[in-house]
Amino acid sequence: MKNIKSPCEICDKLGERLRIDNIEGEHFPDEFKKLETVPDTDGDIRRCPLCGQTYAYDNRFDNDVYNLYDVSEIHRVSEDTVNSIIDSIKKRIDGLHSADLVINAKSLQNKKARASSRKKIVP
Ligand SMILES: [Zn+2]
Repeated sequence: MKNIKSPCEICDKLGERLRIDNIEGEHFPDEFKKLETVPDTDGDIRRCPLCGQTYAYDNRFDNDVYNLYDVSEIHRVSEDTVNSIIDSIKKRIDGLHSADLVINAKSLQNKKARASSRKKIVP
């Protein structure tokens, strides 16, 4: 099973999809370390420096004693998928920022309220 576009030496080692069990002490091949992290993706997307192929990186972890689970996976994704992932991450970050602003605005209001109530108490 060969990919239509012949993969470079890095992608050839990594394949379409690669899954390792960290608990079993499995490791990604060294080629994984050569992948570059795509900016704005929290490290979720890695790019092959040789051919530009993008990979989604995922780690699923569960430290339940009866169901220890720590599996990492990379799989190839298209450029379109990468763009939509970056979009959704940016939206998530924007959402977090606006939540921060709301909290800051509220605490500022509380401070003002406390300051003004103190003024009323102090003659
Ligand atoms: Zn490649």
